[in-house]
Amino acid sequence: MPDVRIKTPNLDAIFEKWKQSTVRKDKKKMEKQFGTKGAIFSLDAVSAAEYVKDTQKEAAIYFAIKKTVGVAPKGAEEKIVLAPRVVRETFYSFKGEGKLNKENWKGDEKVPTYETIQAVSCKKCSGKGYIEEKCKTCKGTGKIEENLTVLTGEEQKKENKPFSYPCGVCFGTGTSKVKCNDCEGHKSLFKYQILPVPFKTVVTGIPVLHSSALTKYEKEIERDLHQIIEEVEGIRFNDFKDLESKAEASLGYWNKNIKKTINSAGSDYKSHSKDKEAQITTQLYLFPMIQMFCETKRGSKFEIYSLGSANKFMIYSNF
Ligand SMILES: [Zn+2]
Ligand SMILES: [Zn+2]
Repeated sequence: MPDVRIKTPNLDAIFEKWKQSTVRKDKKKMEKQFGTKGAIFSLDAVSAAEYVKDTQKEAAIYFAIKKTVGVAPKGAEEKIVLAPRVVRETFYSFKGEGKLNKENWKGDEKVPTYETIQAVSCKKCSGKGYIEEKCKTCKGTGKIEENLTVLTGEEQKKENKPFSYPCGVCFGTGTSKVKCNDCEGHKSLFKYQILPVPFKTVVTGIPVLHSSALTKYEKEIERDLHQIIEEVEGIRFNDFKDLESKAEASLGYWNKNIKKTINSAGSDYKSHSKDKEAQITTQLYLFPMIQMFCETKRGSKFEIYSLGSANKFMIYSNF
């Protein structure tokens, strides 16, 4: 059985690392909190022995997952066509299908979507399909007026008599219906949308951290580990059962919070393993954490956290 023990960094090493990084960031504050009036400030005089009041050994578990999630379609396009053109288009439907695997899809990424077909009443003819115009044959009178020649009397005198009859084009109404050339008589136009195919998208590298120290840096640590996992040393495990059984021996210490944290990390890990859309992409890391409760010369309290082994660790502080 390989040795799973890991060496935790000692307090002086953690404190030293914190001192160096803090003085680089804010020397004035260091001087104000740790300096002596009238004396030249020296970093050497700031020691863990003097300012660390208490320590607590904790642990953190880290792994990363990749998750498949669907995205809402965006970038819709709209088309308005004449009724007979609708059937010439190829429509698609994804209703009740969920999200699609892009690898399996043959076709365009944006397609006309069946569910979006909608009738739009023609504006030009107000949805009637025709436009009423004055009848051209009777000029809107509804009547055809003609002259009738009548020969009158013994002399057969030619006389014109009016003769009118209903117009046969408009059936005497004076108006005629002309097919609307916008909707071609179909009363409506049809609109539909060309929508992106609802593909599943993959979100890679979601970091997951469970720490028994319950610091306010959880999110920060999670993000840092995700980026610089090689710069921190932890004990790696391939499965959670292994981690569970060896955690105490690996750390060389134990407490109730660590036990609780391992339990909750375990159920989280399990649910990610069962989730068909998720995939655990890293090994499991167990990190020793040291929590140091400090107080400055001026009486300000602050904390320093370390995460990692004596070889490679990161620090966080609320100084
Ligand atoms: Zn007419
Ligand atoms: Zn019309």
